[in-house]
Amino acid sequence: MSERVSSEAIYDSAASGAEDAVVADVVSAGAGCHAGAAELQKAAASAGKSEVLERYAQDYPKGPHDQPQSMCPAFGSLRVGLRMRRTATILSGSACCVYGLTFTSHFYGARRTVGYVPFNSETLVTGKLFEDIREAVFKLADPEHYDTIIITNLCVPTASGVPLQLLPKEINGVRIIGIDVPGFGIPTHAEAKDVLAGAMLKYARNEAEQGPVAAPRERSALPTITLLGEMFPADPVGIGMMLEPMGLAAGPVVPTREWRELYSALDCAAVAAVHPFYTASVREFEAAGRKVVGSAPVGRDGTAAWLDAIGAACGIAQDKINASKNKWLPAIAGALAGSPIKGRVTVSGYEGSELLVARLLIESGADVPYVGTACPRTQWSDPDRAWLESKGVRIQYRASLEQDIAAIEEFGPDLAIGTTPVVQHAKERSIPALYFTNLISARPLMGPAGAGSLATVINSALANKERFGRMTEFFEGVGSGHTAGVWEETPQDRPEFKARYAAKMKAASAAEEAVGT
Ligand code: SF4
Repeated sequence: MSERVSSEAIYDSAASGAEDAVVADVVSAGAGCHAGAAELQKAAASAGKSEVLERYAQDYPKGPHDQPQSMCPAFGSLRVGLRMRRTATILSGSACCVYGLTFTSHFYGARRTVGYVPFNSETLVTGKLFEDIREAVFKLADPEHYDTIIITNLCVPTASGVPLQLLPKEINGVRIIGIDVPGFGIPTHAEAKDVLAGAMLKYARNEAEQGPVAAPRERSALPTITLLGEMFPADPVGIGMMLEPMGLAAGPVVPTREWRELYSALDCAAVAAVHPFYTASVREFEAAGRKVVGSAPVGRDGTAAWLDAIGAACGIAQDKINASKNKWLPAIAGALAGSPIKGRVTVSGYEGSELLVARLLIESGADVPYVGTACPRTQWSDPDRAWLESKGVRIQYRASLEQDIAAIEEFGPDLAIGTTPVVQHAKERSIPALYFTNLISARPLMGPAGAGSLATVINSALANKERFGRMTEFFEGVGSGHTAGVWEETPQDRPEFKARYAAKMKAASAAEEAVGT
């Protein structure tokens, strides 16, 4: 087997004594989601990762929600890689993190092997872990099976400076992409999708700049609009129908499902940033000279504004834009009027489409006082922010769980849309609730199809209010907190035990700090 290795560099395992000490500290601190992010960031910076961390800080600005409050962020990039054809995925991280990530990916039907290069304190401290990763990548790089290998540093290897950037860029024609996805640098799993999508677009852009690349399986005769952000499979079809009168077609959805789609995604007339958090990906599209348009064709107002913005970005004549609007806006208005939503709804989630969902709810007639999103504010959701604020909606970017729950308390909605703990809180209060990820993201949102489909699920949930009331009445008095459940004798709370342990914990941590100074 001929081995073609380009841009290869060999890791200098003779790290300085200071770096060794930092790495050893990371290991002995039992670094993880709940270890101090500041400490891990300090360790990563002294281990040579300051450049990547500075870029993440700019791309994914933090707010109150600067620590993972839901799943491990690396799940986002892992899922993107696992969905791509002829792509192998390797994780480098603590066994417990890798266990959780593989469990979750298989729970969501990955049906792919997740590779793992294990480590211990010795291999981490001496640099042997990088050599083990390198060996694993060489063994796996079989062009018969793979186009690409993605290798991801989780928290501990990132904090320890494992230099994935020194891996060969290509082995036997198989592309090698190394990314750092630490929980202390990437606030949400949504943004981790952008880390990998951006890295792949960058690689594909460099390839396209150097010479001819693989043609797409299907090529549209019309100029295309690349759709940035995962969406329900019917949405790109609906968007394509709305673009057609303008002489445009829907292009690939990024993150893509195979490598060659990345070239077609870059080879577009303009990019629609349907999800607003793909900062690194937008950087690549802009480097390729593409215009990027925010928001999405949701509801009547949203679709009208989006078609205008896409038409302007692509230099389409106003009469063609009007032809699309004249054809589709009455259909959307009809679908909205045919499926009205009556009630007060709070919206929170971490998918990035929360503002779009709120727009559609309001155009359907709902009262939406609050939208919380775990994603940051970017210019790509600004049209939605301005529209929602003009309707009196309070928008909380980088919303924490506490803020989402406080909104339910403040507004007393008829329905709460949110993440698992938000839904749980609402149901405890007898408020019907819907999971954003499973029930809202899993249906069309765009064009006429979106208007009718969202109303169906919302209205059937709103109709549950009375049932929730009956359930609360039925279970009334069974207890909550320490008295929850069925008991022969009601358990007694013992706050004095908790107080005693809290005092002991405080004293122990004060003693530890004193030893460390
Ligand atoms: S890799 Fe994920 S699960 Fe592991 S410590 Fe970091 S954030 Fe937590």
